[in-house]
Amino acid sequence: MPDLFIDGSWVAATAAGRRTITCPADGTLVGEVDEADEADTLRAIAAARAAADDARWRDTSPAERAAAVARVADILERDTDEIARAEALDTGKRFEEAKIDVADVVSVFRYYGSLGEHVERVREVDPGQDGVVSRVHREPIGVCSLIAPWNYPLLQASWKVAPCLLAGNTFVLKPSEITPHSTILMVRAIEEAGVPAGVANLVLGTGPGCAGPMSTDPRVDLVSFTGSLAVGKHLMREAAGTVKRVALELGGKNPNIVFADADREAAIDNAMTAVFLHSGQVCSAGARLLVEESCAEEVVATIVERARGIRLGTPFDENAQTGSLTSAEHLAKVEDYVASGLAEGARLRVGGARPDDPALANGHYYLPTVLDRCSLEMHVVQEESFGPVLTVETFTTEEEAVALANGTRYGLAGAVWTGDPDRAARVARRLRLGTVWVNDYHPYVAPAEWGGHKQSGIGRELGELGLEEYQETKHVWENTRPAPTGWFA
Ligand code: NAD
Repeated sequence: MPDLFIDGSWVAATAAGRRTITCPADGTLVGEVDEADEADTLRAIAAARAAADDARWRDTSPAERAAAVARVADILERDTDEIARAEALDTGKRFEEAKIDVADVVSVFRYYGSLGEHVERVREVDPGQDGVVSRVHREPIGVCSLIAPWNYPLLQASWKVAPCLLAGNTFVLKPSEITPHSTILMVRAIEEAGVPAGVANLVLGTGPGCAGPMSTDPRVDLVSFTGSLAVGKHLMREAAGTVKRVALELGGKNPNIVFADADREAAIDNAMTAVFLHSGQVCSAGARLLVEESCAEEVVATIVERARGIRLGTPFDENAQTGSLTSAEHLAKVEDYVASGLAEGARLRVGGARPDDPALANGHYYLPTVLDRCSLEMHVVQEESFGPVLTVETFTTEEEAVALANGTRYGLAGAVWTGDPDRAARVARRLRLGTVWVNDYHPYVAPAEWGGHKQSGIGRELGELGLEEYQETKHVWENTRPAPTGWFA
């Protein structure tokens, strides 16, 4: 079966483009998929525009759309193992972790499937004039371009697709070219759920190869993008030509602040998952440990010891605790990043190399790595590695901790660990981050908004604001007693 989904049909790429996908954990062949070029994307945009204009979806009731979104959740849940397997093979993450990701995806569709009554909320305002009814409506925006990254391919796509559908829009979705398989299964689920032809469209391919029209074509109304800061800036510039709405979920260089009065064991254990989960390929990874000087060596020494013991392995290796990096290019970037840190004077405490285990030789693995003696001006502190690399900075006062934490251009997420609730509240208020965890790291829930301050993004996903991103506002002023104004009489 062909892999592009355009106007309700599974079709091959016009120019017969194909891409081979191999598993980054062991180099085995996963499959071949159709690869679109701009001609395919233009066809997908045309289908999405036609479906938006003839209102075959937007004129269904919010309850009908919510029911369809909820049906997608049921289908994805039914097919959990198949989807998790596809995602694990494309990304190199553990199958068990991929199953948790699918459960998260299901919860996102369930959440938006329960929000039907929020969709067409109408707000009546006082017009200050008798005989006038003045209402503010929320309507679908129209055609949305949805562009997703490779680290959590399906989860990041679901944060866009579920609210986009619920709001009554049509879309063209493009996953990362290296991790297409789980997204293909999600689009099949949308088809099975009975969403009309032309509403959901899928193109597969590279950004430069096929995504250009997604941000420039005048028929598109919104671009929602999750990925790197550099591509986000590029898309924003491209979208400016037709003043599209732009929603960006970009990178993070997330501070994990540990005060000496914190529950030490919990802080250390969570500092490990904060940065090493999914080998650090998490936008909200706690890749910057900011630790109070008085307990720094004890905390860092324990993390180093435990990092040395992390077991790497393939998706179905039941002993593995984490997997490979998702591509050879990304592995090379992580290597360069660590080299730059060492050149700047950081000290390597553990890792800093590929594993020498011959069983892992065919995968793109990198050892969990800790660099201490880091400082704010260093490249490794300012920029994300998106790999299993922890940088350590120390502080002596609360003031200094906050200043360090806020000292990068990013502002996605971070945590504060302390036994003092007043301090927790003070620090949480002063952090310029879209999400702050207090004495925890990583959890998120579909009803709570997610997004970045500063250069970590624009707009919000999840929660009610995540729905409003896909809505346009319209004020309707209705005069029930029309009369001449007499102005130009
Ligand atoms: P990326 O920017 O390279 O690619 C993301 C997507 O954009 C892919 O689908 C890619 O094909 C596409 N793309 C690339 N160039 C394009 C172009 N010129 N035009 C249109 N589309 C283009 O990012 P990535 O490497 O896939 O993902 C990692 C990045 O994503 C990290 O920076 C990470 O922090 C970020 N991320 C952020 C969040 C968040 O919630 N804020 C979540 C996950 C990942």
